[in-house]
Amino acid sequence: MVEPLIDDEYTGEPPAKRLLAYLQTQRERGARIVGIYCGYAPVELIRAVGLVPVSLCAFSNATIEAAEAVLPANLCPLIKSSYGFIMKDACPFFAVSDAVIGETTCDGKKKMFELIADRKPMHVMDLPQLPDEPEAIDDWAAAIRKLSRFLESVFERTTTDDRIEAAIRDTNAKSRRLNEVFDYAALNPPVIGWPELYDALFLAQGASGADLAPILDGVLEKLEKRRQAGYAHGPKGAPRVMVTGCPIGGDSLKVLHIIEEAGGVIVALDSCSGMKPYAAFIEEGTSDPVRAMAARYLKIPCSCMTPNNRRLTEMDRLIEKFKPDAVVDVVLQACHSYSIESIKVGRHVQDTHGLPFLKIITDYSQNDVGQMRTRIEALLEMCRQ
Ligand code: SF4
Ligand code: SF4
Repeated sequence: MVEPLIDDEYTGEPPAKRLLAYLQTQRERGARIVGIYCGYAPVELIRAVGLVPVSLCAFSNATIEAAEAVLPANLCPLIKSSYGFIMKDACPFFAVSDAVIGETTCDGKKKMFELIADRKPMHVMDLPQLPDEPEAIDDWAAAIRKLSRFLESVFERTTTDDRIEAAIRDTNAKSRRLNEVFDYAALNPPVIGWPELYDALFLAQGASGADLAPILDGVLEKLEKRRQAGYAHGPKGAPRVMVTGCPIGGDSLKVLHIIEEAGGVIVALDSCSGMKPYAAFIEEGTSDPVRAMAARYLKIPCSCMTPNNRRLTEMDRLIEKFKPDAVVDVVLQACHSYSIESIKVGRHVQDTHGLPFLKIITDYSQNDVGQMRTRIEALLEMCRQ
């Protein structure tokens, strides 16, 4: 039995429990919590105002039925699940949030925000969706400054450029450490498995770089010991799989389970619930830290952007680093932007990299598990030939 990388009272429990305990500790120390729904939420600003950000995106099938009493059934399960938790007053992260930040990303999220706007102080940021246009960076910097005024007014706190700069450095330090952890998934064979990666990433979405540092240092120490002892995650010669696409967690982790049950190993998680938020750094030491943040956030390769060519160049980098034998694109049902973009992604993966590619459209139910298993087994069989 291999030693757990994060060894605490929450080991073996759902990762949400560890994050919730962290938030409760922060609250006891006087911090206030801000719920966010997207990788574009400028968490450095939130931290600079003395607040703690936490993701409210939900991944459970348990609240879909309640949500469908209000929302259309043919809507992304992430939006339905998140809304269903709020309807049922069952989301502990929403409960501890003192305000909520949204962004104008996809239509479903935008309209869902309108339905929950009366529950907590809410601010929706106007996200430019043509990131390569020259005015995009000014517009996004202006939106971040507007958010700053909202937070300062709701929480009666102020911030300064120095505090924002400190938060930028904290984020960069966290990203650097996490990328060192990801390096162990890039080894052949990998010495870290996806549930362990997922545990670390789940906590990272809420914890500051400074709070996470001792945990990640311990993780890195254990990984190095594993490497030196010749430990390998997964069966010998297992096909290496990179998973890209929509954020996944909770009930949609079925995709990752099935890949590993079918004999593959997941070496890269290219999504907002995976490695994507830590793929780039914010420039430090500039005269305008808000603009530096805006520049970094506009580099996030989300399908709500057009064109989203960065998705392909980022995939090139990940394929070069993690050397997958196949790419699986996970698209949540009714997520049109990721679904349509999958055409370009699939062509790029096959034509430029010569790798097998599989698009999986799924939701949070277990209905498609049998068919998904058959398709993934066929994909991995192709890798073995
Ligand atoms: S996939 Fe896009 S819309 Fe969804 S969380 Fe990431 S950046 Fe936001
Ligand atoms: S997965 Fe797609 S449809 Fe769902 S919230 Fe994210 S961008 Fe919107």
